[in-house]
Amino acid sequence: MPTATREIHLAARPEGWPTPDDFRLVETELPDPGPGEVLVRNTVMSVDPYMRGRMNDVKSYVPPYRLGEVLDGGAVGTVIASNDDSLAVGDTVLHQLGWREHALAPAAAFRHVDATGVDESAYLGVLGMPGLTAYVGLVAIAGLREGDRVLISGAAGAVGSLAGQIARLLGASAVVGSAGSPEKVAWLTDDLGFDAAVNYHDGAPLRLLEPHGPFDVYFDNVGGEHLEAAIALLSDHGRIAACGSIASYNEELPTPGPRNMFQVVTKRLRMQGFIVTDHADLAREYQRLARQWVADGELVHRETVVEGLDHAVDAFLGLHRGDNIGKMLVRL
Ligand code: NDP
Repeated sequence: MPTATREIHLAARPEGWPTPDDFRLVETELPDPGPGEVLVRNTVMSVDPYMRGRMNDVKSYVPPYRLGEVLDGGAVGTVIASNDDSLAVGDTVLHQLGWREHALAPAAAFRHVDATGVDESAYLGVLGMPGLTAYVGLVAIAGLREGDRVLISGAAGAVGSLAGQIARLLGASAVVGSAGSPEKVAWLTDDLGFDAAVNYHDGAPLRLLEPHGPFDVYFDNVGGEHLEAAIALLSDHGRIAACGSIASYNEELPTPGPRNMFQVVTKRLRMQGFIVTDHADLAREYQRLARQWVADGELVHRETVVEGLDHAVDAFLGLHRGDNIGKMLVRL
């Protein structure tokens, strides 16, 4: 049984863009599991934009990370010791104690997942939180209807790439995406069935997206100029699922809002934010659909995998630069 492990601590609260100096890789002792506890060797962990917000010392929907302490996040691992009847050595589990090589906690912190026939990493992507986020945003928030024309920003990321495909599977008549490189744009149109995609580095989002509008639904992962463009390009009674605002996560000062908010009134638009964890009631329904879509080859998912905890900080910084296509993961 290992007696030591490694984990990533928050060394400083980033101001603006995070740097490697804001993190520290720390070796610590690994005690034996106590009564009711389970020891898991993490095999793959999730790299997520929301972690950036938790590095700020502000009140939000999740508590901030504590300075000088280990980060956490979604992870999958294998049970290597168990003092609880609900989990056995060899079980694959999903949990929130990532950013460390081993997770030691009461059994209730871990959820046993079925790793037969699917890659275990799927539980951090298409069968996990990003997939459910895409589904919730489209179905519960935007109220997607057959025939809707859908615009998605951050379209080649974990949530966006799934949202575009799910929109089409649920009856959207057109799906258009915005992403940050020619390779991403080609992936969206050639492999994922997006009707059109633009590289937002080629110009202002409004100018690039206008030829593909109007839209009934906007799935917003980015905020900023993309949101302003979407407001301009939505039809009357259009709906916005406000999922994320990554364009502003590393800004030191609050960024200006869309300048065309009055169009929300004149077009009777509806914009609603959401947090996926409020919608656990849809998880079972989504899992059933997603498993079938994946099995039928109708829902394609891609991963960008960085190897080893030593490179986890690079993966996190890279996520914000757009290094990932599909879900950003670290394999341990
Ligand atoms: P992604 O896999 O989409 O990774 C982030 C991507 O954001 C990058 O690959 C990059 O791609 C893009 N990006 C970075 N900076 C900018 C910018 N300035 N303008 C436009 N695009 C940018 O991450 P996720 O799929 O995990 O998350 C997507 C969004 O969904 C995030 O905003 C996240 O916070 C949010 N989210 C919200 C949830 C909720 O419950 N509401 C749950 C999960 C995620 P590119 O090359 O295209 O720039």
